Amino acid sequence: MRYYDKLVFELSRKGRSGFSLPDCNSDLPSGGVWRETAPDLPEVSEPDVVRHYTNLSQMNFGVDTGFYPLGSCTMKYNPKINEEIVSRFNGLHPLQPESSVRGVMAIYDFADKALCAITGMKRFNFLPCAGAHGELTGLMLIREYHFSRGDHARTKIIVPDSAHGTNPASAAVCGLDTVTVKSRPDGLVDVDALKPLLGPDIAGIMLTNPNTLGLFEKDIRDIAELVHGCGGLLYYDGANMNPLLGVVRPGDMGFDVMHLNLHKTFSTPHGGGGPGSGPVGVGERLLPFVDIPRVSGFHGNFGVILKACAYILSLGRENIALAGKLATLSANYVKESLRDCYKLPIDSVCKHEFVFDGLKDAGDVSTLDVAKRLLDYGFHAPTIYFPLLFHQAIMIEPTETESLETLDTFIEAMRKIASEASTNPELLTSAPHDTPIGRPDETSAARQPVLKYERKGAQ
Ligand SMILES: *Cc1c(COP(=O)(O)O)cnc(C)c1O
Repeated sequence: MRYYDKLVFELSRKGRSGFSLPDCNSDLPSGGVWRETAPDLPEVSEPDVVRHYTNLSQMNFGVDTGFYPLGSCTMKYNPKINEEIVSRFNGLHPLQPESSVRGVMAIYDFADKALCAITGMKRFNFLPCAGAHGELTGLMLIREYHFSRGDHARTKIIVPDSAHGTNPASAAVCGLDTVTVKSRPDGLVDVDALKPLLGPDIAGIMLTNPNTLGLFEKDIRDIAELVHGCGGLLYYDGANMNPLLGVVRPGDMGFDVMHLNLHKTFSTPHGGGGPGSGPVGVGERLLPFVDIPRVSGFHGNFGVILKACAYILSLGRENIALAGKLATLSANYVKESLRDCYKLPIDSVCKHEFVFDGLKDAGDVSTLDVAKRLLDYGFHAPTIYFPLLFHQAIMIEPTETESLETLDTFIEAMRKIASEASTNPELLTSAPHDTPIGRPDETSAARQPVLKYERKGAQ
């Protein structure tokens, strides 16, 4: 047991203190305002507290500690200047009169213009606080549009089988039935399979482009024409906007509404539940409705929106376009460097991410074992067992913020793991070997998480 495995309460020693202040309670009136018993707080020195929390923070893995190639999550490095800028705004209150927050309103205005320029949309609604929240908002807009035309028959939304799980979930929450369109063997939406699904009951289609396999839907123009032709609208899941930055715009592809994950593409540290921002942008058709759904209070998650602005301004037009291209280059570099050891089910140039289907010579070793062994090499594991199209899926998204040296070290680790799988599979099946937790029961960890420690004798 390391000494920092103890709870801060277990470090407590009576009378020990982490501060030294003059007696400042003498001005408080006596009678009624004093608590009867002292609060049950640990008594620890400053170094004890600092070491305790610093060590706790190191038991987790973050993009600030190492490479984090988690596919469909865009775990790019988040420049610290964003945090610095946000910290200057922490005195704001959402009920402040608008006249005292002119600068903040100007930031919203800038965010709107910048995101419209990047996406080809006409206006953004900044209320949604996550990607899935944005999806729901966007779908509400689509429904509103059809209702406003007296069209109540459009109850179905088309979603490809490769879609992110939030797409059908958001559709269900919005009261729409999902119709699945299948992918062709090359991973793209099967346009011939799409045609017979289109009709007067279709509210629209949800697509992400590049799709969850990291492939660009080349037929997007035809798809847009077909869906619009039947009276439906096109929803763009822009969580994966990273590779398109400054290169292609969803608005130009024919999409009517989209969300962005500011916390992925526009650099806010995320994971573990937040914070996020999933602003929804609309094209011409949905402009009259953009302000209708009030899915959160006030003006959404301002801190994340401000960080996105700081990120956009510090990169500038030219470097934003470079970010997308470098993300694509990194993904293809890693893919090509590993394809002789890992199964590549769809062999084509990818965008920001790609999917392997496990090891070529897997033996008894699963994708989970490869992911666990990567932790021993100091890397966060890629996304595994998603998308559901492949049984041993390993989805890798390196992002543009990693150096060639980091990518090479990762490639080397992945190649070593591939050879260990045949020479010493036990090394993989018993991994990880030195993390605080190794292989939790994932179902109970998700369904019955124990989020706080019950201390014996605590009130
Ligand atoms: C991450 C992601 C989402 C969901 O975003 P949240 O902020 O986690 O709700 C939706 N679609 C795709 C393609 C994603 O990668």
